[in-house]
Order: sequence, then C-alpha cells, then structure tokens
Amino acid sequence: MPAIHFNDGRAVNVANIFCIGRNYAAHAAELGNTVEAEPMVFLKPTSALLEVGNAIELPSFSQDVHHECEIVLVIGKGGRNITQADALSHVAGYAIGLDLTARDLQTVAKQKGHPWTLSKGFDGSACISKFIDAAQLPTPDEAKFSLDVNGQRRQTGDCRLMIHSYAKLISYVSSRFTLQEGDLIYTGTPEGVAAIKSGDKLTLRLDGLIEASFNVA
Ligand code: MN
Repeated sequence: MPAIHFNDGRAVNVANIFCIGRNYAAHAAELGNTVEAEPMVFLKPTSALLEVGNAIELPSFSQDVHHECEIVLVIGKGGRNITQADALSHVAGYAIGLDLTARDLQTVAKQKGHPWTLSKGFDGSACISKFIDAAQLPTPDEAKFSLDVNGQRRQTGDCRLMIHSYAKLISYVSSRFTLQEGDLIYTGTPEGVAAIKSGDKLTLRLDGLIEASFNVA
C-alpha cells in the first residue's frame, strides 16, 4: 500500500484518493465547464501516487498532459456523514500536489460520456509533497498556493475563491463514502492549467509552509 509522509518523517498508508473537479469558477470557465451546486468527485487509484523526490514520467498514450496544482488534505480520523462543523477536526495534514491530467484523453472521454479514470488515474498522476500537520494551517480556507514552471508563475491559488469549502468537501464526500484514515482529497485547481513537457521543472508552494519541486523526465 503506498504511503505519504509528513515533513517530520511519519508515514501514513494511503487508503483512497478522492479528487474534486471544478472547485474554482475561473478554472471551470477556462475549460468551458459549468459549475455544479454539489462538489464534483472522482477517484484516482493509489498506484497514481508520486511523492516529491521522484520524476514525473509522461505517459506514452497522451500528447497533452496538463498540470493542475491543488491543495491536498489527508484524513486523520475517519467517519461517515461528518458535519461541516466537525469536518476540519478529521484532517491530519495538508500538502500541495498535482492532479496531472491527460487532457486529450479527457476531452474524448467527455465527448463519449466515458469515465475520467484513464485520463486522470495513470501512474504518477497524483504528485504530492510532504505533509504538514493540520495545526500548521489553522485557516485553510484562506490559504494561498502557487505553481511555477521553469521559474515562471503558471497558477496562483487563493482558497477564499473555492466554490466549496474544505468543510463542505469533507462533509459531502463522507455522505457518499465512508472516510478512512489515510484518505486523500485533492481539492481542485485554479485557472492556468497548461501542458507540461520533458525537461520542465515544476515548483509548488503552499503559503510559505511547503515548497516541492518535480522534474519531468
Ligand atoms: Mn483537478
């Protein structure tokens, strides 16, 4: 079972990887998507995890892999039907990651009404930094984050612009799936998604608390 790590070295085995789509209005608009009233949830297999320190390997079956920089939370205490008031107490930590997306495959899947699994769940598509304790980010709904590619700013995230708050996401996901310790939730990307290519260096930052770089092989 793949593990993620806190910045003090503690390891947590990852159970499920939930991802939220269209949680920033400007990103939904840039892909021509409408915003839903309820969070849009999809899954990645745990084989998709790629922890910082490893290179991104572009899949042979896509010519258009996009970066989606996102804040990721890890569940500490599981539960179901978690209330929004209790939700943040279930979070053990936060990280910054990439929901890598084979946009060409996803576009075909959308046209055909097929699932996104092939475009979102390939090996290495869930890039992840080390985690910080939740206590180090007491107001996650005000967090800011960014992605630089080869030193140029590509994405800037401001959690105050999230359509669904962290509490809403945790409450909603737990109303459909029993959350377990070690579950990850990728919380959505702001605008600015674009293709990556071999040789690129991607640097992700969360509020001065985390910096993580990934090289594209
Ligand atoms: Mn995403």
